Amino acid sequence: MFAKLIVDIANSNVDRLFTYSVPEELDVRTGHRVLVPFGRSNKPTEAFVIELCEEYEADFSVKSVIRTMEPYPALLPEQIELAEWIARAYHCTLCDALRLMLPAQLRGSRVKEKTVRTVSIAPGADCGQIKAGMLKKDGTPRSPKQTEVFELLEKVGAPMSVADLNAYIPGAGAAVAALLKKGVITEHGFVTFRSPFAGAPERDVPPELTPDQKRAVDSIENGSAGDVFLLHGVTGSGKTEVYLNAIQKALDEGGGAIVLVPEISLTPQTTDRFRSRFGDTVAVMHSHLSVGERYDEWRRLRLGKARVVVGARSAVFAPIENLKLIVIDEEHEPTYKAEGTPPYSTDEVAIRRVRLTGGKLVLGSATPQLISYLRAEKGAYKLIELPERINGIPMPEVETVDLRSEFLSGNNSIFSRKLADDLKKCVGSGEQAILFLNRRGYSSHGECRACGFVFTCPHCDVALTYHKFDDTLRCHYCGYSARVPKKCPSCGSEYIKYSGVGTQQVEEQLKKLIPNVRCLRMDTDTTGGKTSHRDILDAFVRGDADVLIGTQMVAKGLDIPGVTLVGVVYADASLFHSDYRSGERTFQLLTQVAGRAGRALKGGEKRRGLVVIQTNAPNHRAVQLAAKHDYKSFYKLEIDDRLRTLFPPFSVFVRALFESENEKHAAENAAAFAEKAGAALSDALKENDREILFISNGPAPIKRRENEYRYSVIIKLARTKHTSSAINALWKLADGFRVDGFRGIEINPNDML
Ligand code: ADP
Ligand code: ZN
Ligand code: ZN
Repeated sequence: MFAKLIVDIANSNVDRLFTYSVPEELDVRTGHRVLVPFGRSNKPTEAFVIELCEEYEADFSVKSVIRTMEPYPALLPEQIELAEWIARAYHCTLCDALRLMLPAQLRGSRVKEKTVRTVSIAPGADCGQIKAGMLKKDGTPRSPKQTEVFELLEKVGAPMSVADLNAYIPGAGAAVAALLKKGVITEHGFVTFRSPFAGAPERDVPPELTPDQKRAVDSIENGSAGDVFLLHGVTGSGKTEVYLNAIQKALDEGGGAIVLVPEISLTPQTTDRFRSRFGDTVAVMHSHLSVGERYDEWRRLRLGKARVVVGARSAVFAPIENLKLIVIDEEHEPTYKAEGTPPYSTDEVAIRRVRLTGGKLVLGSATPQLISYLRAEKGAYKLIELPERINGIPMPEVETVDLRSEFLSGNNSIFSRKLADDLKKCVGSGEQAILFLNRRGYSSHGECRACGFVFTCPHCDVALTYHKFDDTLRCHYCGYSARVPKKCPSCGSEYIKYSGVGTQQVEEQLKKLIPNVRCLRMDTDTTGGKTSHRDILDAFVRGDADVLIGTQMVAKGLDIPGVTLVGVVYADASLFHSDYRSGERTFQLLTQVAGRAGRALKGGEKRRGLVVIQTNAPNHRAVQLAAKHDYKSFYKLEIDDRLRTLFPPFSVFVRALFESENEKHAAENAAAFAEKAGAALSDALKENDREILFISNGPAPIKRRENEYRYSVIIKLARTKHTSSAINALWKLADGFRVDGFRGIEINPNDML
């Protein structure tokens, strides 16, 4: 027998099948990881078996497989097919794609199975006689520890782990060793699984579904293999309960399910909802697991001991046989697009995977990606709506406050009078508030304090970014730049501001406003450690603080019953962010933050939450429509704009990045690439070359980083049936474009800084 395999070396030079013979005594199947002699030096190298064949003709001697790495194939056949698709779709080596399917430490055997030692009384032992033999002449034990251990084992009458014995009898280890030596007890070892869970949560009783939920569950059940459902439901509408029911159906059919949640929402509260419904058949996968736990959770899935996984993005590759369902919760989250190698989109991979396995995909969100809603409108996805909150809890009341008029009437504090009053009232009556300020992003936009005028690009309809190093305002999409004016072109005011307020300042000001307020701050500065993000949330849920201040971290995941007020300190922080997606992101964030207010019943009483949004742009549709909880109107306006200006999803951005300590090199390389890209694209598109919307090259928005100058080429292509051949031409060009500091090309990167 012969095995065609891919060696575990991520290099395009060895990105092809190598054939080895399989010794008769080895049980090698498709998907096995094996060790093979590789290269001229025959270095033992790990490899993935892609295919087996009976015969192979070669005019050289074929080397043979040394051994298997695991007794079972680490990869399912369908995972190999998925990897082959990924390698094509994202232009990476098959090795890179296969590596996605396995816990990293499995490779190179850097993690081992955990075995537990147990001991029990030797079979056929005469306990009375043994105990008598352990006594001194005066009737006292020769070794009290040994006697104690022996008697405990006798009483239990079953094998006990040494760890358990130690818990009852501190220092039992030495006594166990002595008893083993005497042969009165025997030792066993068995493989166990390290568990990331501390104890099992209580089983829950499934609630009766609302009519809307019932309809949702039915349409998923009645769908066909490979179907994609878009579950559009407002915050608190009971989407998770729909997922739980769909998973139950998958399990009833003998299948398995994958549930993807943004990493930041993967709290014990989230995973417990699944575990209390399905118990130990639930495994988790996220970055807070130890190496051993991650390996063991993977193994539990691979060996069928768990059939449901709840995890972050990469769990879309989990080894689940007979996969019937994938759920992507909060499907609009940008973290579902991977930045590494390969740069996959989780939803695209999931669509592919359910097609391969005959499963179904459910995308859930209160604010779906524009492209998902567009696909639903066109019928490619099946749309399911949950328009109301559970239990008749009303959507929160949202008020916007115009910061410009606050400023003009003499209030230049970061809190408007309205928000300041509401905060005092809320804290005064023992309720809780969340203050949200999104400070993500690199450079801030230029904006007039008096009239709210924001500098935008004359060609692109996006905000210009302030560049400190040469005091200019620049467009990240077309390269337009202008010197910073001294006065506001709209009202003549000299109060032009470039930096926003950070969460730290919010905390300081809040303490001035309400002297004895207890507050917690949650942002990347305060959540460095392993659990501090959870610690802060737990403390807030317990009521240890009146106000939680934070970045988008506070927007996600939790039901906090005590919260009746949510304040958005500055909604525009993400609005004029020199990104064509900033309106969409702002709408999503505001909707999500607003969803935190008055979600649950407090003390049995139905309480409508209040949300105060402070903004300089009260008329911006992202703000206005989020305040009205009106996704559909937002979608219609935004998608029309994207179509009119040919921005994604109607076009594709490709970026090539060049870095060098020598600015001239970086600039020249970018210019040379731009020229070749133009030629390659014209060649590939021929008479359709008007689909090349533009090719520009110049300094990247962050022009210098870590002492390297950065220049980029940005290509905008209309999205048509020719797009993939255009992108293939660019990949081909990039593969052959060997200059120092070329960082490759990216398709629709999350950020273009
Ligand atoms: P979403 O995921 O849409 O934000 P959840 O699934 O978290 O909403 O549901 C919101 C709340 O309503 C949760 O506390 C959940 O336990 C509860 N809930 C969901 N469905 C039902 C139901 N059919 N009956 C009673 N309570 C429900
Ligand atoms: Zn002005
Ligand atoms: Zn522009």
